Amino acid sequence: MTTAVLALRGVRRRYADGFALDVTSLDVVAGEVLGVIGPNGAGKSTLLRILGLLERPDEGRVLVDGRAVDARDALAERRRVATVFQEPLLADASVTHNVALGLRFRGVSAARAEPRVRSGLERLGIDKLAGRMARTLSGGEARRVALARALVLEPEVLLLDEPFAGLDAPTRAALVEDLGGILRADRVTTVLVTHERGEAQALADRVAVLMEGRVRQLDETARVFYAPVAEDVARFVGVETLVMGRVVGRADGVTAVEAGGRVLEVAAAAAPGAHVRVGIRPEDVTLTPADGARVVSSARNTLDGTVVRVSASMYATHVIVDVGFPLVAAVTPRSVDELVLRPGARVRAVFKASAAHLIVA
Ligand code: ADP
Ligand code: MG
Repeated sequence: MTTAVLALRGVRRRYADGFALDVTSLDVVAGEVLGVIGPNGAGKSTLLRILGLLERPDEGRVLVDGRAVDARDALAERRRVATVFQEPLLADASVTHNVALGLRFRGVSAARAEPRVRSGLERLGIDKLAGRMARTLSGGEARRVALARALVLEPEVLLLDEPFAGLDAPTRAALVEDLGGILRADRVTTVLVTHERGEAQALADRVAVLMEGRVRQLDETARVFYAPVAEDVARFVGVETLVMGRVVGRADGVTAVEAGGRVLEVAAAAAPGAHVRVGIRPEDVTLTPADGARVVSSARNTLDGTVVRVSASMYATHVIVDVGFPLVAAVTPRSVDELVLRPGARVRAVFKASAAHLIVA
């Protein structure tokens, strides 16, 4: 059993507005990227400030390498951690000066700092901006400077608070990719706070879902996204179909659930008679023409239905199909045209038994 680099035990923090953070236990393991996701106001930034020893909890302990940190050694321990805040605070000086700032505060000589700063600038793709005044940078460039400044410290733990918030989509995508490459190459122990679940899905090894101050699920990233433990967690991680049903049978690792007058096959365990919700992600549902040949397969659900609604968003078009219950499918614009998807159209929806999960009511 490896000791957590950073851990919380029985931590509580209350604010005057009634908000309460209440974390029984949280471990940040060496080398992992731990995502902390949750809606705005869930307490993510509060949790991060406590992990970074910038704010003391009202109750409970923060452990660094398994040892409780008290007020006297908080300052020294804080140096093992580097935090990047949502709004990067950059000095009115050059990019190079800003990236070197943390090293300077920590007493690293200019000669020893220089190669580290140069490598940090290169790795974040801002070496060409080295001489620019930081305040003239774009939002994405400024974030890169803040990240470089933290990474050159070679911290034991990197704490990132919404490092991509407020950036336009292409800038954000490029930064997610570049930062992901660095974190994976160096195995930097990282806590990444975000309200954008896609960022955590792209970068995190494990994810903690924080809602109303509590960790509702902490698991490997894929488990959180594909097997959320509760309805509100499921909705937050992007599960759009959550239909009530009852377990009517079980064979060969597949559970049969009656829902909306249909029998669904789900590759997850539940006791016969149990009331459950079946969760299905929209991207796991395929729509095909309703008059196509039926492919009979025990590991699939094939449901004919009528399109109720078609709504286009930036990334995908979501189609709600009434198959006895509202089933949401994400489709490409090409499918919308080819299948002539519009309210009233008949379609066949297909999803694998392994793409559905159960939440016991
Ligand atoms: P998140 O980062 O998930 O959006 P925060 O941790 O910033 O959430 O805030 C959680 C709640 O705590 C909010 O209701 C916020 O208004 C409140 N809060 C945060 N920081 C403070 C503070 N320093 N003093 C009082 N209330 C605060
Ligand atoms: Mg926040």
